[in-house]
This record gives sequence, C-alpha cells and structure tokens, in this order.
Amino acid sequence: MRKFLTIGTLGLIGFLSACVHVDADFDLELNAPPPPEWSLVIHGGAGVITREAMTPETEAAYTAALTELVSTGSGMLQDGAAGLDVVETLINSMEDNPLFNAGRGAVMTEDGGFSLDSSIMVGDTLDSGAVAGLSNVRHPISAARKAMENSPHVMLAGEGADQFAAQEGLEIVDPSWFYTQRRWESLLRALERRGVEAPPNRYGPKDDSARFAFPDDRKFGTVGVVAMDRSGNIVAGTSTGGTTAKRWGRVGDSPVIGAGTYAKSDVCGVSSTGTGEYFIRLSIAYAICSRIELLGEDAQTAADYVIHTSLSDLGGDGGVIVLGPQGQPAWSFNTEGMYRGYATSGGEQVVEIYEYNKGAFD
Ligand code: ASP
Repeated sequence: MRKFLTIGTLGLIGFLSACVHVDADFDLELNAPPPPEWSLVIHGGAGVITREAMTPETEAAYTAALTELVSTGSGMLQDGAAGLDVVETLINSMEDNPLFNAGRGAVMTEDGGFSLDSSIMVGDTLDSGAVAGLSNVRHPISAARKAMENSPHVMLAGEGADQFAAQEGLEIVDPSWFYTQRRWESLLRALERRGVEAPPNRYGPKDDSARFAFPDDRKFGTVGVVAMDRSGNIVAGTSTGGTTAKRWGRVGDSPVIGAGTYAKSDVCGVSSTGTGEYFIRLSIAYAICSRIELLGEDAQTAADYVIHTSLSDLGGDGGVIVLGPQGQPAWSFNTEGMYRGYATSGGEQVVEIYEYNKGAFD
C-alpha cells in the first residue's frame, strides 16, 4: 500500500510537473512577439567610430540623419510601399547626404576622382542589379535597379554603366557634385602615407556645411538598407564610393551579389560594409544566408558567426545588417562602431552608433 502510495505520489508529481512544463512552453510561445508585418534595418558604414573620436555636433548629425531615414522607411512600409521602393528611396537620400561615403560625400580615388559602386537584390525572385565604377551618376543605387529591371545583365561596369544610366534617364551630374573637402583631405593623408604625390584638386576647395571633425580615416561609410514589406518580400541594397585612394579600377564587395548584398525572401536579407577584399573572399552576405537556410540558425547567430569568426579570423573588419526569415532585424560588426538603425511594425525603432549591442560580444 505504502509502495503504491509512493508510486502514486511520484506519478502525480510527474504529471503536475509535466503540466507546469507544458504551461511554461505555452506561455513562452504566447509571450514571444509576433513576427513583424514589415521591418527595416539600415547602416551608414562601420569603422573606428568611438565617442572620443566624435564631436557632439558630428554625433548629433549622424543620429538625426539615421533617425530620419528609419522614420521615413517605417512610414513607407506602414503605408504598404514595396520593399524595392523603400530601399531605393532611403539609399538615394543617403547618396545625397555628404555624411556618408556614397554619392555626394564619396571617398576619392588616387587620381582625385570618384568611382561609385552599388547593388540591389529582390528576395522574392532573386532578381539582382549591380553597377561598378560609375563616375557621373547621381544615384548609383537607381542605376543598379535599372540594370536589374531594364537590362538582361546583373552587373555593368565603367563607362558603359555610366552610359546605360544616362540612356535610362537617370540624373547625370558633374563629378564636382560628389566632392567634399573632408574626403579631399582624407585623400591627401592617404597619399602622404603611401608616399605618392597628390593629384591636382579638380573640384575644390569647397566650404562644406557638412564638414565635421573626423580625427582619423579608419571608418568606412558605405550605406545599406534591407527592408521586408507587407507582402514578405525582402529586398537588400548597398551603395558606396569604395575605399580612399583606390586605384587601378579597384572594385570592392558592395556591387558584388553574395558579398556586399544578398536577399532571399523567407531566408534573409543582408547588406555589408567593411574591407571589401575580405567580404568578397568570404562571400559574407551569402554565407550568412546559407547558415540561416541550411543550418537553421537565426539571423543574429549566423551574422555573429560570419563576422566574429570567419571575417575576424581572416583579418578583415566591418559589419553587416540582416533581416531574418520572418523579418527579424539583426546586425553584427567587429569594428568599434557602425552607424545603424532598425524599425519594425511592432513599434520598435532603434538608432545606434557605438559598440554597445554590437552582436556576439555584447
Ligand atoms: N565595402 C566597401 C568597399 O570595400 C567599403 C565600405 O564598406 O566602406 O568598397
């Protein structure tokens, strides 16, 4: 009888704890936030971005720009805009903002000119477009979109890409449009370190209103946006002036599908920024999506692995923004900072610059 009672008691305890366990799981599921109806993540480059190296005015200018971009994108997505339009609109705005290394404010080539790269990818169809080495197109991301939509090719480069953009009716500008005094001075410092004579300044000097104090050049400034619209389409885009004092027609990762940009709806969307040579060799954007798709990792885990293990082990630096299969935002970077922000239909809106919440090593 006693034995029977003991067994009965144990059984009852087991039954009750099973109920508690089931209940706990059930509660967890109930408390988990529902997947967003739309979401958005943006970056404005990564690098040696520390509070000490930034004046209050510079910090305020970046924070205001990122906040406005995230708000504009959120409004568009809330109203049902297509992810493709949101990505293009926000990147156009960053291409016009001299704070970023894309379009106006792009870094300069060794010979004192500009060479702009960009790419865009639509996750629903895997349609992609890319342009490399543009010299006079105001909005390189729009040229990438035109290449995707109105040419049979994925990537166009050099003069031909400039011509195609003009033929498509995109705005062509004199290269002086891209010029900022800050980037000229960065070029001079880079050439001095390299022991190369400076080219004549074809466009300056200019008194830039957006000339803030940047004590060193080890920061990037490429821009990227990943958006998931209400139909679940994930679109990613990236635009850059590349790296300061680049030569020989150097092209980085930003226009390379799979390195600088990748999107596949229900899996991921990624835009990268950093030392392009490493991002190309590791196919960073595609590697993150593959880990999500094939290993079942969540976006944060996949991004952290690829940035803090693959990229760091190879000696590269930079970061990524990611949307996961259901549009969950994530980011990861192994630099001191990354200009970044995200928003979701659930009401979250975040803008950050410095190391806090950088990914795996918070
Ligand atoms: N990834 C870009 C490049 O290598 C640079 C950057 O992110 O700023 O061209």
